[in-house]
Amino acid sequence: MTHRDMIVIGGGPAGAATAIRAARLGINVTVFEKGDHGRDKVCGDGLTPRAVGALNDLEIELQEAHQIQGLRMIAGSKTRELDWPETSRFPAHGAVWPRRQLDAALMDAAATAGAELIYNTEVLPDVDADGRCIGVTTPDGKWTADLVVLAAGAQGKAARILGAERDPNEPFGLAIRTYAETPRHADRHIEACLTLQDENGVAVPGYGWLFPAGDGTVNIGCGALSTMKGFKSLNLNKLCDAYRDQMRDSWSLGPYLERPRAWRLPMSAQKRHGPGWVAVGDAAGLVNPMNGEGIDYGLETGMLIADLFNKDPVTATEQYDQLVAERFDSFLRTGRRFSFLIGHQAILRNGLRLAVGTDTIARITLQVMGNLIDSDTPGAAGRIMTVADKLLGIADPLLRRTRAAA
Ligand SMILES: Cc1cc2nc3c(=O)[nH]c(=O)nc-3n(C[C@H](O)[C@H](O)[C@H](O)COP(=O)(O)OP(=O)(O)OC[C@H]3O[C@@H](n4cnc5c(N)ncnc54)[C@H](O)[C@@H]3O)c2cc1C
Repeated sequence: MTHRDMIVIGGGPAGAATAIRAARLGINVTVFEKGDHGRDKVCGDGLTPRAVGALNDLEIELQEAHQIQGLRMIAGSKTRELDWPETSRFPAHGAVWPRRQLDAALMDAAATAGAELIYNTEVLPDVDADGRCIGVTTPDGKWTADLVVLAAGAQGKAARILGAERDPNEPFGLAIRTYAETPRHADRHIEACLTLQDENGVAVPGYGWLFPAGDGTVNIGCGALSTMKGFKSLNLNKLCDAYRDQMRDSWSLGPYLERPRAWRLPMSAQKRHGPGWVAVGDAAGLVNPMNGEGIDYGLETGMLIADLFNKDPVTATEQYDQLVAERFDSFLRTGRRFSFLIGHQAILRNGLRLAVGTDTIARITLQVMGNLIDSDTPGAAGRIMTVADKLLGIADPLLRRTRAAA
């Protein structure tokens, strides 16, 4: 039987970051990826300053990525263009980097660091009679490992085996995207339209985006939270078409370059660790409900588990769960509560008007939504987040009880 210190299931940003850091620390690590090298992932391709910071930590060169200076928010007739906030913790710029290239660059870095990468191979966790994950089952037989890292993205078969499915009581998102040519491909601001409506005129909690990629194209798409009324019958293709029609003139958009494709945004997991395993990135339900961002969380949690395993393989899984909780749980919990709040039509409509009402408030909105609050110097955004956490905590039972019927 083949044995490794660490086996990673999935070669997206979370799995690659785990492997890069682990291999650089001298850990014997293999990544199994069911797709090809350079496989695509349905995504907006947007990297916040927080994500750029994580890529810097991994020493990934970003010359090929299109650098982004800030965000343009549109709510009804109001538009506000803001630069990313200056913090001591994160760089002051973001980026747009199509996932084929970003993910290939990460996997190449993992290979350079010494990780073994096995493509076109789907594997599943192997759990013994005591419930310990002891390795993976590959098409060619079983491999064992001291630690299995589930980095398989939005929960599916592998998560079910480990009991790491999403929590059915928590919200999740669905989003769709494609590409189109535009003369504005080199814009330095990404754009988010916060006032999306479905074909019945129901306000959609989510946003439509245009993320210029700097290569002649823009990534166009939209996403919605499961807390909205009529979510189950929401037609994302129609939503995307309507949004494209709305934006066609201002961006001189060409036809879709590929069929729009949709995928899930997991925002919870029933478990993210257990004996012999941890989940990272989307597999751990780590998507920011306020903006749909997940790449950063995958990179950060991948690096974290590699560091902890290197320090002490015995305590790594427990430690990981605790540190992820400290770093992200309160923010993500507030985000999930917020998504129940904006699932209410009237609150969504009025809240949006408020969120972009003045430059100062829009700046705070940007910092809060992007999880760009520096814990050392939290400022107004930090104070607002603390208050929001408390108030949403109190309102949470009511918001859930009165949630829109799907
Ligand atoms: C439409 C849309 C737009 C988005 N826009 C953004 C954005 O602009 N910015 C942002 O930060 N986030 C965005 N997200 C979220 C982001 O795409 C994810 O959070 C991110 O890809 C998570 O990375 P990951 O490595 O955890 O999972 P993934 O990127 O999904 O990678 C998981 C990998 O595991 C492989 N795999 C799965 N099962 C197995 C198995 N059994 N064996 C072997 N391999 C397996 C898959 O092939 C895949 O390559 C968006 C999501 C959607 C749906």
